[in-house]
Amino acid sequence: MHLTWLRSDLRTDDNTALSAASERGPTLALWLVSPEQWLAHDDAPCKVDFWLRNLRELRQSLEALNIPLLIRKVDTWDQAPDAVLQVCRKHHVQSVHWNEEYGIHEQRRDDATRALLERSDIQAHSHLDQLLFRPGTVLTRSGDYFQVFSQFKKNCLEHLHRGLPSLAPRVKRQAALSISSDPIPQHVDGFDKAAKSLRDLWPAGESEAQERLSRFADETIVDYEHLRDLPAKPGTSRLSAYLAAGVISPRQCLHGALASNHGEFDSGNPGVQTWINELIWREFYKHILTGYPQVSRHRAFRSHTEALPWRNAPKELKAWEEGRTGFPIIDAAMRQLLETGWMHNRLRMVTAMFLSKNLLIDWRLGERHFMRHLIDGDLAANNGGWQWSASTGTDSVPYFRIFNPVSQSQRFDPQGRFIREWVPELRDLDDKSIHDPSGSAAKISASLYPRPLVDLRSSRQRALEAFKALPR
Ligand code: FAD
Repeated sequence: MHLTWLRSDLRTDDNTALSAASERGPTLALWLVSPEQWLAHDDAPCKVDFWLRNLRELRQSLEALNIPLLIRKVDTWDQAPDAVLQVCRKHHVQSVHWNEEYGIHEQRRDDATRALLERSDIQAHSHLDQLLFRPGTVLTRSGDYFQVFSQFKKNCLEHLHRGLPSLAPRVKRQAALSISSDPIPQHVDGFDKAAKSLRDLWPAGESEAQERLSRFADETIVDYEHLRDLPAKPGTSRLSAYLAAGVISPRQCLHGALASNHGEFDSGNPGVQTWINELIWREFYKHILTGYPQVSRHRAFRSHTEALPWRNAPKELKAWEEGRTGFPIIDAAMRQLLETGWMHNRLRMVTAMFLSKNLLIDWRLGERHFMRHLIDGDLAANNGGWQWSASTGTDSVPYFRIFNPVSQSQRFDPQGRFIREWVPELRDLDDKSIHDPSGSAAKISASLYPRPLVDLRSSRQRALEAFKALPR
């Protein structure tokens, strides 16, 4: 018997570990519920709910292949090695297969599991699956991890020119086993069930993810370059939650994009090239997480920025979290996050910069709030995005390029359509004042919409001075 230990790879198609296990013979699948670990990682309730919903779909697809899905509960990953071993002992498992995950705790868990299994004469095999390139294979000439995205990307494209990563062999239906699948929990204590409206936005299952990819590749990707910055338009793939939970693989995404560009990844349609660029950003941050593990320990990539005089301003933090800053585009975005578990990329940058620069509040508090609410929450991408916006990260925005939320709003939501959707109290303002209603007091009652939390000019100056004063 062979075992595939599923984690953030909730699919049967193009699943490297699952394919490898089933090629060896009869296979079982295992998934661990680990609520204390999830709480420690700030995993969002809507993300946990998404995992459980996907597991239900996955259980059905696995059952069609006669692969039983076992569920075991551990509180934290310290108990994972024993839980895996017990399953192996009970079912006489000879080899265990899993897809690599990146991050210090994940690494520690997997190393301990491997050691325990090997001591017990059970083979342990880890596989590259979550990424196109294994961390450590895209390096500078001197053998270091790249710190600059453009150079990392150039190297990735050279790899792709030498050969595209191929999809894992399709898993064949095996003979029925006398082991039945476990029920999938309806809910896990500590994580509220997601509201129906949120669930409807993110239906579970591989076929949903594949349909999203096809629809995006057929209808939107050619204009992605122009549409991707406009939050009022459905101009991006909305695949991030599916990629984060592994309901779709980056290889499937890459192949899907290439199919709509005659197989070209660095020529042809600019929309396709730009989208592949985003997939490479995803790779970049996971490589950074592995090569520079301090970022996985809540440390700034640029250590001198640890000396920034972050303000202790709990009321301002709360107003930002709840979408009550008095800046419509910020408030619309923060409310979108709370309602839908997702926020548009342009607005993730704008809101993150507003918190870390205009409010001069520690980026780690914003990073945590995002993680606690995002359905696509991913340590590498979230940390990378936050450190980029706060100018504490690798290849991040220069500290003096501070986005002005009002001009970002005028530029990327010119008619205020996105704002009107999420901040209904401003719905009746004209297209000009909707971006900055502070001057339109006559039109909105003060009790309906807050006054701006800060003065943009002086708060910008405060941030510039804080950065300039840093020791080099
Ligand atoms: P598309 O535009 O269709 O892009 C396709 C895929 O590429 C995405 O699904 C995602 O997997 C990847 N991707 C796109 N942009 C980036 C990027 N800048 N960095 C890394 N991967 C990228 N993305 C997450 O998946 N999880 C997070 O927790 C997360 N937190 C972020 C926090 C901040 C402050 C910022 C600025 C960005 C963050 N991102 C995060 C990146 C990006 O905002 C989302 O991936 C994107 O908005 C998801 O929407 P989409 O699937 O429609 O993306």
